[in-house]
Amino acid sequence: MKEPGTSAGPSTGGSELIRLDGITKRFGTNTVLDRLNFSVDAGKHVTLIGPSGSGKTTILRLLMTLTKPDEGTITVDGEQLFPASEKQVREVRKKIGMVFQQFNLFPNMSVLRNITEAPVTVLGLSKDEAEERAKELLDMVGLADKTDARPTQLSGGQQQRVAIARALAMRPKVLLLDEVTSALDPELVAGVLDVLRDIARTTDITMLCVTHEMGFARDISDQVLMFDGGRVIESGSPERIFADPEQDRTREFLSAVL
Ligand code: ADP
Ligand code: MG
Repeated sequence: MKEPGTSAGPSTGGSELIRLDGITKRFGTNTVLDRLNFSVDAGKHVTLIGPSGSGKTTILRLLMTLTKPDEGTITVDGEQLFPASEKQVREVRKKIGMVFQQFNLFPNMSVLRNITEAPVTVLGLSKDEAEERAKELLDMVGLADKTDARPTQLSGGQQQRVAIARALAMRPKVLLLDEVTSALDPELVAGVLDVLRDIARTTDITMLCVTHEMGFARDISDQVLMFDGGRVIESGSPERIFADPEQDRTREFLSAVL
C-alpha cells in the first residue's frame, strides 16, 4: 500500500496538475499543516474531508495564494506556485478558480458584470467575448434570465450558482470548492450540487473540493482524502473510504457527519 497522503488519484500515469510537497503551515505555535504531501492528477475530482480545524480551508487558500506556507513547494500544471516570483504567481494563479462558502459577489454590479469583470480586466477579453462566455455559463447554471439582476435580488443558492459561473468564466484548469453549500438554506443545497455534478460530468476541469455533503462527495469523487492533525491520514476511492475506512479516526468522523 502507498504511504497515506503521497498521491491522490489512481496511479493511471495521468499528468499531475497539483502537487504539494512537504508543506508546513503554522499560525504562531499552531502547526496547521505538517509536512503535507499530496498530488491531484489532471481531470480528477478529489474531495478533502476531516474535522473542523484540520486545515482543509488552509490548503485551498495556499493554492489561491491567499496565504503562504512556511515550508515546502507547491506546483500547479508543471509550474511552481510557491516559492515563485510575483510575475509567475500571477500567471499560475490564472489556472485556479475558487468558490467559497460565502459567495462574495460584488454587490454593486449586475450578475453579468460580476462574471465578465475578471475575464476583461485579467485575461483581456473584449466586453462582447466576455458577455458571450458569461451568458453561456449563466445558462449552464440555470440563471439565463438573471443577467441584469443584482446579487441582493437573488437567493443564496442563485448567488452561489453565479459565483460558480464567475469562477468558470476564467477557464481555470482547477476549481477549488470550499464548503460551497454550507451557508445555504437546506432547500437550496440540491440546486447548487446539481450544477457541480453537471460540471464534474461534462467538463475536464480538475476539482479539489471540501464538503460535508457525503452523498455528493461519493457521486463526484475519484479520490477522498481524510485529514486530521495536519496530515492526510487515509485516502482512497469514495466507495472504500465511506464503506470501509481503515482508520478509527475516519470512522468516528464519518459517523458524526453521516
Ligand atoms: P478547516 O477548513 O479544516 O476547518 P482551517 O484550514 O480553516 O480548517 O483551519 C485550520 C487551523 O488553522 C485552525 O486551527 C484555525 O484556527 C487555524 N487558522 C486558520 N486561519 C488562521 C489565521 N488566519 N490565523 C490564525 N489561525 C488560523
Ligand atoms: Mg474550512
